[in-house]
Amino acid sequence: MSLKLSQESQRVPEVADDGIWLECIECGETFAPFEAVRYTCDDCDGLLEVRYDDLPTWDDFENDERGVWRYNAALPFEEGVSLPEGDTPLHEVPRLEESVGVHRLRIKHEGMNPTGSFKDRGMTVGVRVAEELGVDRLACASTGNTSAALAAYGARAGLETLVLLPEGKVAAGKIAQASLHGARILEVDGNFDSCLDIVQDLAARGEAYLLNSLNPFRLEGQKTIGLEILERFYADEGRYPDRIVLPVGNAGNTAALYKAFRELVASGALHPRDVPKLTGVQAEGAAPMVEAIENDADEVRRWNEVETKATAIRIGNPVNAPKALPGIRETGGTAVSVSDEAITSAQRALAQEGIGVEPASAASVAGLQKLRNQGVVEADEDVVCLTTGHLLKDPDAAFEAGDDPEPVPNDTDAVLRHLEGRSGGVLSKLTSRFTR
Ligand SMILES: *Cc1c(COP(=O)(O)O)cnc(C)c1O
Ligand SMILES: [Zn+2]
Repeated sequence: MSLKLSQESQRVPEVADDGIWLECIECGETFAPFEAVRYTCDDCDGLLEVRYDDLPTWDDFENDERGVWRYNAALPFEEGVSLPEGDTPLHEVPRLEESVGVHRLRIKHEGMNPTGSFKDRGMTVGVRVAEELGVDRLACASTGNTSAALAAYGARAGLETLVLLPEGKVAAGKIAQASLHGARILEVDGNFDSCLDIVQDLAARGEAYLLNSLNPFRLEGQKTIGLEILERFYADEGRYPDRIVLPVGNAGNTAALYKAFRELVASGALHPRDVPKLTGVQAEGAAPMVEAIENDADEVRRWNEVETKATAIRIGNPVNAPKALPGIRETGGTAVSVSDEAITSAQRALAQEGIGVEPASAASVAGLQKLRNQGVVEADEDVVCLTTGHLLKDPDAAFEAGDDPEPVPNDTDAVLRHLEGRSGGVLSKLTSRFTR
């Protein structure tokens, strides 16, 4: 496998601050990291990436910290605004592993972060950068989880927060979080992509500091998902996973994991042949990345109409596509779309292993199952699926996927008669298998 490593050449530009700078992924222009607020390249509007003069190896992560900031050797600061985040479980799922039919399957459950999604990893770094820049109002467009994380981390830092959400398309748990943590919530009569257009305009006019994953610093925090997976999988299994399967919305995580791997390869910590195949999963009703991969296109075509019950990935214009497409291609991965029914079925299968996730998260497992059935994923592979958000984020979807409560009289004998009379509920769940 040939990873494009030329980008990691150790040329430190004059604008660097303590060995850190921003670089345009399109034209290579470099910028000082913390002097001015900037999200994209001044010259060509390309996406920016954080660059480091010094890239860490595994030894550099040996310290007493846990979670995201244990990896501060790979981050722009020593510490950040922390709740704390990261250090999430890498579950074993023996029954699911068998029914999917791969050699090893582990589930990295990012729903176990402080606000219940991986967005916390990006926010702990992003809000630290906001402090460095001295801004006083933070903003994001969100399908829900980014707004929950921004509200919590903004509150922690004592900063004002503003979130733009697509009206009627955000799961209840997420709005509840943004609301209680004190964000000002604007419900836009449009989809996520329209919310992002507006908040980018507001940011460009200096009204707020933008903390969507267009912000390159958020992706730095999200790199730690990849670092944790590799470290834990290696400690447990004595080798690295062949493949990492993840849900794709704006493709920030796909870009972040790819960057983590490239930096490890550049520092000599990871052999290029040990880089896991990045495999993205989208819902059928919102699959522009899958379309680009299938058509071998250089660019992603914006989908104006998107629909799926997996609201966290109900996105038609993935802003990080230019960073993520090479990540999928150069690691030998692929992208696949799955139906809402397959997502619900995977959500149930995970729940039967005790792992509660929201619909978007279950897309990873549904995608793996589909690729395994197609023979794209082979039986001898070691796979990690990323589950991005917690079950309680979307209680309505959980109720729909699960069995209904059974009303019974206020009387023990009547309860017993009811239990004998019907073997529904719990038992039907235990016996229903994850169907291929
Ligand atoms: C944000 C989010 C995603 C999408 O992640 P991207 O990095 O935008 O691709 C997937 N699942 C959940 C639960 C999310 O909150
Ligand atoms: Zn540029």
